[in-house]
Amino acid sequence: MSNFLGSVQKTALILFKIRQISLKLFQKLQKYDMMQLNFERYKTLIMQIGICHLCGKEKELTFEHIPPKGANNKTRAKLITGNEIFDLEKLKNNKSLRYINQQQGSGGYTLCDECNNNTGAWYAKDYIEFANVIGYYLNNETNLDKAEQVSFYIEGLHGQRIFKQILSMFLSTIQPEVVERMQDIQEFVLDKDSMNFNKEKYRIGMFLLKNYEVSHSGMMTLFEVNQGKLIARNLAVMNLYPLGFTLELNPATEFDKKLVDITKFADIDYNYNKKISIIANILDKEYSMHSLFEKIRKENQNGK
Ligand SMILES: [Zn+2]
Repeated sequence: MSNFLGSVQKTALILFKIRQISLKLFQKLQKYDMMQLNFERYKTLIMQIGICHLCGKEKELTFEHIPPKGANNKTRAKLITGNEIFDLEKLKNNKSLRYINQQQGSGGYTLCDECNNNTGAWYAKDYIEFANVIGYYLNNETNLDKAEQVSFYIEGLHGQRIFKQILSMFLSTIQPEVVERMQDIQEFVLDKDSMNFNKEKYRIGMFLLKNYEVSHSGMMTLFEVNQGKLIARNLAVMNLYPLGFTLELNPATEFDKKLVDITKFADIDYNYNKKISIIANILDKEYSMHSLFEKIRKENQNGK
């Protein structure tokens, strides 16, 4: 009898749990379009199933830390995304930027287990050291207070691994429908020995950040007036304090001179680790999402 009662209680408990879960799920679904509820969607919400941004296969996705955990990304992070910056309603109503609070650090469910593990094992370590050395230097070198440009000479790191880690993070943060058309970058990152990178089509820029910011824009089109001509730049930006990166698609011949062009890192062998020397600019204002948001807001107001 007690057994029976016990099992009834258990059943009740399980039912209660299921009810809790389904309530939560219901609340979550309400945010989406309830009319579109079907099994595929249900599965996606529960198991984070989706298209891996690296191998392109539909799989269960795991949380990818962007930047890697060891590069100052272990605890709660405030993330700003491109969606937030290009929200025209928000701009018109003069609302301020909203952050996404991420309890486990900044990142997203973008890579399958296999891709997450491979990139972690092949590339993350060098990137983490690179970011931490530069972060330490920017924080502790007091004569840098007014500096706008810093030159580095780092030995013992693999430039190609750092480069592929940066690309892997770009693929994770760029919209899936754009990533779909970047198969060549996917293949380049998935093969650690590949040196086959299309330098005509893509250009990777780097800059430094003194102020903390973690943000990524996704692929966006920026219009700039240059010598009376309107130029459209297809650009993705990641601010991953203390480093920032740009990925420019079909870059114009005039690359923003403030950025360091690190595209040549693609030609370094996976095992080569002699020296990396870089002169980089501190561009907190130029590429920060805050500044970009303010810039767009001002232009929007002037346009009224
Ligand atoms: Zn994958």
